[in-house]
Amino acid sequence: MTPVHAFQGQRVALFGLGGSGLATARALKAGGANVLSWDDNEAARNKAAAEGLAVADLAQANFTDFAALILAPGVPLTHPEPHWTVKRAHAAGIPVIGDIELFCLERAQLAPDAPFIAITGTNGKSTTTALIAHVMKVAGFDVQMGGNIGTAILSLAPPAAGRVHVIECSSYQIDLAASLAPSVGILLNVTPDHLDRHGTMENYAGVKERLVAKALHAVMGVDDEWCRSIAARLHKPVEISVERILSQGLSYEEGFILRNGQRVLDLNGIGSLRGAHNGQNAAAAIAAAEALGVDDATILRGLKSFPGLAHRMEQVGRVGSVLFINDSKATNADATEKALLAIPRDIFWICGGVPKEGGIAPLAPLFGRVREAFLIGQASEDFARTLGSVPHRFCGDLEKAVRAANEAAQASGVEAPVVLLSPACASFDQYRNFELRGAHFRTLVEQLPGFRAMAEV
Ligand code: ADP
Repeated sequence: MTPVHAFQGQRVALFGLGGSGLATARALKAGGANVLSWDDNEAARNKAAAEGLAVADLAQANFTDFAALILAPGVPLTHPEPHWTVKRAHAAGIPVIGDIELFCLERAQLAPDAPFIAITGTNGKSTTTALIAHVMKVAGFDVQMGGNIGTAILSLAPPAAGRVHVIECSSYQIDLAASLAPSVGILLNVTPDHLDRHGTMENYAGVKERLVAKALHAVMGVDDEWCRSIAARLHKPVEISVERILSQGLSYEEGFILRNGQRVLDLNGIGSLRGAHNGQNAAAAIAAAEALGVDDATILRGLKSFPGLAHRMEQVGRVGSVLFINDSKATNADATEKALLAIPRDIFWICGGVPKEGGIAPLAPLFGRVREAFLIGQASEDFARTLGSVPHRFCGDLEKAVRAANEAAQASGVEAPVVLLSPACASFDQYRNFELRGAHFRTLVEQLPGFRAMAEV
């Protein structure tokens, strides 16, 4: 845990007692603050009270008694309208801050030079965060990874020399972190998302910009308009493009990473980093590690041994020559497009579930890569119509689909068949979430006769 001393001896209000809220309340209490917390959910309140945290209805409290309002990132700060606690805080003239900000305040006091890598972007945050954490571990650092991925930031060990914090930041978290000034700030990309909470694209991009604006080293993807204009406002950012070759910065071409136009690292054959989108993630990891003094040979060792993240193009294992990939996180056509782009041919594609607007129609230019599709869930009829002459069959559920796809792939005689679960659909007609769908896929694949896990292949 990172005890937070910024409010030692002061009263603070905390709203939102989910995972990160609880961790924040503990960290503030450990740092000597007098925390009064609340959540609309009774079970969350009871959990906090059971571990000795002070729980009281903030609606009855006088906000001028507090030094700050600590807000969970899920609670609306500005749109569709500020939460009532935010309105009360504004009226009382106290700051509204989140857990990343508390970490920044503590770091500024405790170890202002401790390495702190912060990552954001509309897509690729988790992959890039996990990849950087892995590379830095290979380079011998004491790595603390968390934030919007896995562990809440204040549950990690405190900042210290030789210890690097690798922190995924959502736009909501950045919005609550006014003094965010990481050693390395990475902004991968900005495309329309979360506009319900940020109002406009201008606001959303503006929030994202704050992660790099005060970074000692700024790393910027420059493949979209929003990021290009942000990069132009920064002082000497490291720029990354996977769409064109940059004479200054990092680019991606045919599986290679180029530095200032020269090929320097080969990602070909690294199964966990397939596809150009992972070229962007890998380039960001390279820039971050480089900024902290890691050499290319060590970075390459880290990239090569990256196991990948569960449910995102995760290589589960093989049966004979057939490779099984779990991309259950792909809940829309956009994400599945990345998967189909990453595998040039002979895909035995398991898809379906609850379809999104437009279904798989945008994927039609990539259907040539698909040998056969195995349809599950609600979307089956709709997807079958879109697939047209692409071979497909109705499997109903994942169990039948895995069996059928394996049999077809084994019988196909092609050199490198891939059974890919990339549903292009939400899961909730058959599963509670995409993690459970992916875990079920893994179990079914592991039960196939002759299965070998990735480490044994
Ligand atoms: P996030 O944490 O931002 O949601 P993830 O790393 O979990 O991102 O990746 C989610 C999905 O987004 C992946 O399955 C892939 O389809 C896509 N993706 C990953 N990296 C990128 C990127 N750099 N650019 C665009 N799409 C990406």
